[in-house]
Amino acid sequence: MGESDTTHASGKLSIIGTPIGNMGDITFRALWNLKECNVIYAEDTRVTLKLLNHYGLRKKVLRLDAAMEAKKAEEIVGRLEDGEHVAYVSDAGTPGISDPGARLVAHVREARPEAIIDAIPGASALTAALSIAGVSADKFLFLGFLPHKKGRHTALALIHDTNVPVVLYESPHRILKLLSELAAHNISRVVLARELTKMHEEVLSGEPLELASELKEKGAVRGEFVVIIDSSR
Ligand code: SAM
Repeated sequence: MGESDTTHASGKLSIIGTPIGNMGDITFRALWNLKECNVIYAEDTRVTLKLLNHYGLRKKVLRLDAAMEAKKAEEIVGRLEDGEHVAYVSDAGTPGISDPGARLVAHVREARPEAIIDAIPGASALTAALSIAGVSADKFLFLGFLPHKKGRHTALALIHDTNVPVVLYESPHRILKLLSELAAHNISRVVLARELTKMHEEVLSGEPLELASELKEKGAVRGEFVVIIDSSR
């Protein structure tokens, strides 16, 4: 693993990618860091404790969600000053990708530039979806969750005008609304990647309204979605 010591005079912050559904999708290096760190900060301690229990790891886990990121960042700087090794994980996938983490890292870089900040890469719904969508992703635009109100129309117009694939995240209770809005903006080819790495993983592609009917036919719309708008064809 190449990392035998747990303390560093300047302190170390590891930003760790975790599974997006399948517990197997975690790297040896991530597990090693979760085991060796002094403390784990997590978006939701219950979610992270399930992961730790699955791998037989016992560690102090403290909450750091989006609302408390600035305040907890200061606490983490204090730990780094004491030479601690701190790990940060979000609920699923890569911290900072539509998840907390970026403000923490920015704060640590500024307040404690001598601290080591290690990327421990892992799963992300973004890359998992693109890897099986059949859409060329040499270039793409990732917009994450569209704004709910202000700026939504502008974002939809931008998607229409963009000539590289656009990737969005969406929740099950908003997916039908998004598909009807994409149709209203004359977007004709969409790929949906649902429940990636889980038992009911599937990829659906077609026109937005066809996909909406397909989802409705299956009954309650469940699962988490990555939406890819493929304007390249
Ligand atoms: N940080 C995460 C990552 O790296 O993918 C994303 C976190 S964001 C709060 C959650 C969104 O990611 C979900 O609403 C969904 O759009 C997408 N997502 C997460 N897990 C997924 C999965 N297993 N299948 C499909 N989409 C998923």
